[in-house]
Amino acid sequence: MSIAIAIDGPAGAGKSTISKSAAKQLGFIYIDTGALYRTVGLAASRAGVEPVEGKEVDDLLSKITVELTFNDKGEQVVLLDKEDVSGLIRTPEASMMASKISAIPSVRAYLLDLQRDMAKKNNVIMDGRDIGTVILPDAKVKIFLTASPEARAERRYKELVEKGMDVKYEDILEDVKTRDYNDMHREIAPLKQADDAILADTTEIDLQGSIDLIVKIIKENS
Ligand code: C5P
Repeated sequence: MSIAIAIDGPAGAGKSTISKSAAKQLGFIYIDTGALYRTVGLAASRAGVEPVEGKEVDDLLSKITVELTFNDKGEQVVLLDKEDVSGLIRTPEASMMASKISAIPSVRAYLLDLQRDMAKKNNVIMDGRDIGTVILPDAKVKIFLTASPEARAERRYKELVEKGMDVKYEDILEDVKTRDYNDMHREIAPLKQADDAILADTTEIDLQGSIDLIVKIIKENS
């Protein structure tokens, strides 16, 4: 039987960096499920399809293929119709598109089996919004990882500036708040802490401290 660790929380809480590092230390495969929604969002942008529920999105889903693979460093690579789009989905525009498209029930249904299959075949640390509540309700350990909107915006701002992007802190904070609102208020699979999830708030903790905390929680509970 494979072991699954579910890490959910709002945008910019450091889920991916922390989960990636924890997975490496513990010998698990790390799966970033946000990349899947971003990829469907990218497919919609390219096809000129609005991210609203309906036939257009459903038709798009029937035409595309989304696959998760891993490169020789063990990093996740996401393929849209066999094209590696892992880099292309990391823009603020792609974030907003993902946030909108992920509220559509057929999109969530489309990505459900892919996520469950990965967890069936591997020991995984999977991060997202609904992993502990919907995708892997029987996960061995569930963690709800969060931080204040300001702390999360500050971190994302630094990350994007380091990548050479021309962004404003105020815009990022606005994006973080909008995405929180969208994620928490959608009808299907809203972002919320699972009843049996352990809360980890990293507002006052630096990255290394956050990684240590998550590894400790996983070790103590698995
Ligand atoms: O985690 P990341 O910021 O890459 O996710 C992009 C968007 O995809 C989020 O704003 C969220 O709306 C959506 N998402 C989701 N369920 C997941 C992972 C991400 O709805 N499991």
